[in-house]
Amino acid sequence: MNPAGNFTYDVFVNDPPPQDGFLPNGEPKRFSPMASTLIYGNEDAVLTDPGMTADQARVLGDWVAGKARNLTDIFITHGHGDHWFAAGLLAERFGARVVASAGTIMQMHGSVAARPLLWDKLYQGIPPSPVTAVTVPDNRFTLEGHDLVIVDVGHADADDNSVLHVPDLGLVVAGDVIYNGVHMYLAQSAVGGFGPWRDAIDKVEALGPRHIVCGHQNRRLDDDAKRTIAETRQYLDDADELLRTENTAVGYFNAKIERYPDHLGRLILWVTARALYGVREHPGENVAKIILSSWL
Ligand SMILES: [Zn+2]
Repeated sequence: MNPAGNFTYDVFVNDPPPQDGFLPNGEPKRFSPMASTLIYGNEDAVLTDPGMTADQARVLGDWVAGKARNLTDIFITHGHGDHWFAAGLLAERFGARVVASAGTIMQMHGSVAARPLLWDKLYQGIPPSPVTAVTVPDNRFTLEGHDLVIVDVGHADADDNSVLHVPDLGLVVAGDVIYNGVHMYLAQSAVGGFGPWRDAIDKVEALGPRHIVCGHQNRRLDDDAKRTIAETRQYLDDADELLRTENTAVGYFNAKIERYPDHLGRLILWVTARALYGVREHPGENVAKIILSSWL
């Protein structure tokens, strides 16, 4: 995709798992596609965010195997289970180490605790997901001499997000800090607003990437850094505006679809709308509980 000598990367965007239920506009509930990045040299490779279910892990693993490289590490951008519950299966298949920031590892434990309340209620076939990730010294590791730098950027769609900066490729693997043609999960900004997320976007931009792989992207779109950063900022600005002008979750849901007719991931749009308006309409109630019930 972006050859720089014998050092390059490629992206695999998965298919969401089957799910029951319907959205307010009558379409079936469906999770967003999630992107995994394989960064590779002549012999070795590093994979990011390997997905959630055993089915996803098998398809992704076959794609990785087709690259005929030695998978040394699997890097996880943040703690949300859709990005890493299948990591153990891939780590075992390829004999790879799982790497994450200290903050991500902490959040992964929270996602394991949330599994029976959330993920296992919605999706079949999530494999056992013990947290085996380790940190690396100074948040850096290498692939055939090229630096891979873990950059902590703070709160975005979750707490303690990180991104992976690959300077020699002009690449940032941005997890869920930057989105590309997919509705953004804003529920965890219900308290405190989007200021911290905007700060996280600034930190990604300061790395000067030419290419950004987003955790959730439409596989038909390119990975242009300037466009994806600008569109992610615009989506937050639009959300702020619609939160002022729309009085209900359904109103917000419909208005976002009108503005973003081609965006994927309307389940996430609906969960977000329910959470943002649920928190607004029930001041003083437990925010985590409101967000959880927005999924179910
Ligand atoms: Zn995600």
